Amino acid sequence: MVHNITLIPGDGIGPEVSQATRRVLDASGARFKWDVVYAGAEAEEEFGALLPEATLASIRKNRVAIKGPVTTPVGSGFRSINVALRKKLDLYACLRPCKIYPGAPTRFTDVDIVVVRENTEDLYAGIEFEESKPETARLRQLVSEATESEVREDSGVSLKVISETASRRIVNFAFEYARAHGRKKVTAAHKANIIKFSDGLFLATAREVAQEYPDIEFEDRIVDNLCMQLVKRPQQFDVLVLPNLYGDLISDLCAGLVGGLGLAPGANLGDDMAIFEATHGSAPKYKGLNKVNPMSMMLSGVMMLRHLDETGAADRLEGAIAAVIAEGKDVTYDMKPDGANAVGTSQVADAIIKKMGGAK
Ligand code: NAD
Repeated sequence: MVHNITLIPGDGIGPEVSQATRRVLDASGARFKWDVVYAGAEAEEEFGALLPEATLASIRKNRVAIKGPVTTPVGSGFRSINVALRKKLDLYACLRPCKIYPGAPTRFTDVDIVVVRENTEDLYAGIEFEESKPETARLRQLVSEATESEVREDSGVSLKVISETASRRIVNFAFEYARAHGRKKVTAAHKANIIKFSDGLFLATAREVAQEYPDIEFEDRIVDNLCMQLVKRPQQFDVLVLPNLYGDLISDLCAGLVGGLGLAPGANLGDDMAIFEATHGSAPKYKGLNKVNPMSMMLSGVMMLRHLDETGAADRLEGAIAAVIAEGKDVTYDMKPDGANAVGTSQVADAIIKKMGGAK
């Protein structure tokens, strides 16, 4: 069967890691018809829109996409295209497995954690009030009338919104994932001790949902304590479920536990659509240098193959990536202790294709 897949190359290092990933996927034994479409600053230059309608239409039609990272300017400019894509397509669950492949550069062993991050609300909802704007003055007025608090006049405000609906949906997703993949425990992270009505609601909902899954252990952790325990004894964790912002931070922390951002794949999943993408960003300083590690996006490709029920191809590609990591020869600078004798992005793809028996 030929799979119609939307491919968004992204910008910065995106096109290089996308090209390497496309090559290994084509050599995996599965068959693809790629629909290459664009998003971000380059799409705006070429098509006059950051997120062209044609890009959304392609994903809606194919239901499965794989995407390179897209740059988001800090502070000013447009809001994140990544966040917009997730919200517009209601890709409410972000799934980020962090497991150690033998030979990966890490001080730990036996880490195999799956981070499940809520993808649609929290501080990422984009509900913000800029300093000195009339609507911000109205909000300040409302706050002073409705509570005993004052918001300083020179404040910017970003709303942290957490609903019971979205919390229930993401915690259910985490438990269903745990059950389907033979996982034993789900840990919910929060700061409910301080942030009572948003994180508190997330925690209360998680506890309620946990009752429906008596076969799976449930526990919760305050997120600062979770950070400390993750770096001290990560092996105690199995599936983590978190609101959006904590999920973002903890994903990078867990990527660090298993060898870095070069080895951290991910998927954004909705009820009937999926976009696979690495945890890392567009690393603009490495753009065009054929230097960075394509394995995060390739491992996201492995997740895509499993999603497509291409189990044989997924096992073949994951096995080849694992073998290249274990040999430690044809790997990029981030996988070499002193950076010496590293190969480039495209040479990693060559080595993986060779392990799979050559290009198909
Ligand atoms: P980043 O992940 O792009 O890079 C941080 C550092 O991690 C890099 O300087 C590099 O040292 C290392 N790194 C990242 N990817 C690597 C790889 N494949 N191989 C080896 N090393 C790698 O984070 P950033 O610099 O904070 O963000 C850059 C841009 O990417 C920002 O505009 C940000 O908004 C965007 N971003 C996009 C996505 C996405 O498209 N999903 C995700 C995160 C960040």
